[in-house]
Amino acid sequence: MTGRIVIVGAGVAGATAARTLRTEGYTGEIILLGAEPEPPYRRPMVSKEILAGTAEDRRTLLQPSEFWRTHDIELRLGTLVESIDPGPGLVWLEDGSAIGYDNLLLATGARPRRLPSTLSGSATIRGGFGDASAAARVHVLRGRADAEALRAAIGRGGSLLIVGAGLIGCEVAATARGLGAEVTVLDAAGGPLERVAPRMIGDFVRKLHADNGVAIHTDVRLRGLECHGDRMVAVGAADNRWAAATVLVAIGSVPDTRLAEAAGLVVADGIRVDECYRTSAAGVYAAGDAASRFDAAAGVHRREEHWNSAQAQGAGVARSMLGLPPLPGEVAWGWSLQYGRNIQFAGTIRASDELVVRGSVESGDATVLALREGVATGVVTIARPAEFRAARDLIGRAAQVDRVACADEALPLGSVAELSGQS
Ligand SMILES: Cc1cc2nc3c(=O)[nH]c(=O)nc-3n(C[C@H](O)[C@H](O)[C@H](O)COP(=O)(O)OP(=O)(O)OC[C@H]3O[C@@H](n4cnc5c(N)ncnc54)[C@H](O)[C@@H]3O)c2cc1C
Repeated sequence: MTGRIVIVGAGVAGATAARTLRTEGYTGEIILLGAEPEPPYRRPMVSKEILAGTAEDRRTLLQPSEFWRTHDIELRLGTLVESIDPGPGLVWLEDGSAIGYDNLLLATGARPRRLPSTLSGSATIRGGFGDASAAARVHVLRGRADAEALRAAIGRGGSLLIVGAGLIGCEVAATARGLGAEVTVLDAAGGPLERVAPRMIGDFVRKLHADNGVAIHTDVRLRGLECHGDRMVAVGAADNRWAAATVLVAIGSVPDTRLAEAAGLVVADGIRVDECYRTSAAGVYAAGDAASRFDAAAGVHRREEHWNSAQAQGAGVARSMLGLPPLPGEVAWGWSLQYGRNIQFAGTIRASDELVVRGSVESGDATVLALREGVATGVVTIARPAEFRAARDLIGRAAQVDRVACADEALPLGSVAELSGQS
């Protein structure tokens, strides 16, 4: 295949697609366009080492900086794509110029979800939230520049109020403690990490934070954010109040589908793609956090928001563009690092699933496997990377698991499917 492939978004999905096109022998032109000024970097470090200010720049990069030139990939940074026109096959840039393409990949990622305007609009924020100095106290976190702005604000103000006790909120709380900040976390849910982990893990995380001086307040219905001099005050429905110099809003993210929507592509919680990452427009593909991909086995579209999924999709879409067979699918998985504890999670866990615990969640050394009618569907581990790999394998095989054997620490987790007669 020859011609020109244009990739919008130089995150891990876009960058991996570009690299895979070359390693799979594509000799045509590749143009990788990224709005951020930095070469593709490891976004998970944003809430960890980059926010802490401990990351060496070159270690944050996805590839050494000369990689793009030596692989003949035209990397254009600080380049915002304004619109796409699938009819003639054009990408329009902010400076008014256009680039033609034979195939286009949208790897535009996701954006942080903002507080509803009824909470953060100047009408409900007393003390002039509409003014720039108050608005500048409310941060979101997606990229390196956000991390640098947040670290500077923490350094100036010394205290941080985090709205959202999900993965990013909890990680930032831990990192900000390391920076010496006073930290408070609020969440509307009943416990931290509610979206990815069962309550027992949330309870462990809450205690881990409490032991490190961070209070996580849950079941909080926020009524407003007020600015009082150099303090921001969050007001709960019961008129309870929490104050800090700086606020981080970490309430999840939304897929960045703006280019796709404006061009009339089918979008529903992400840019809809088939199993081969093809959108509803000919020659246009999508992958990563921005894409909602059809899962033929389950008969539904799914959107993932994990580093490894975005990387696998980058490789997958490149293979698809080249007409190569797909690589075997992987169970979606992610991780979180808080106060040095590695929490890993994979698959799905529903409230109705049976949970089998190996080790001790309370002491931060455990595997919690979710079984649905005896079949392994999801896992969370704390500080058990080897068991995590074994559990992912069980989930990938939809293995029927013997729950008694599974709970027996004397048996390797990898063997419990065999014990129940499955392999
Ligand atoms: C703070 C943070 C911490 C995380 N930690 C973890 C973790 O520990 N483990 C884990 O598994 N996952 C983690 N994630 C999630 C993971 O980083 C994402 O799932 C992954 O980066 C998604 O990759 P992507 O390439 O699809 O999108 P992104 O990384 O969002 O990249 C998309 C790129 O496209 C660019 N772009 C968008 N629109 C345009 C346009 N119009 N023109 C030009 N460029 C454009 C954006 O600027 C961006 O650079 C974390 C995410 C964040 C924000």
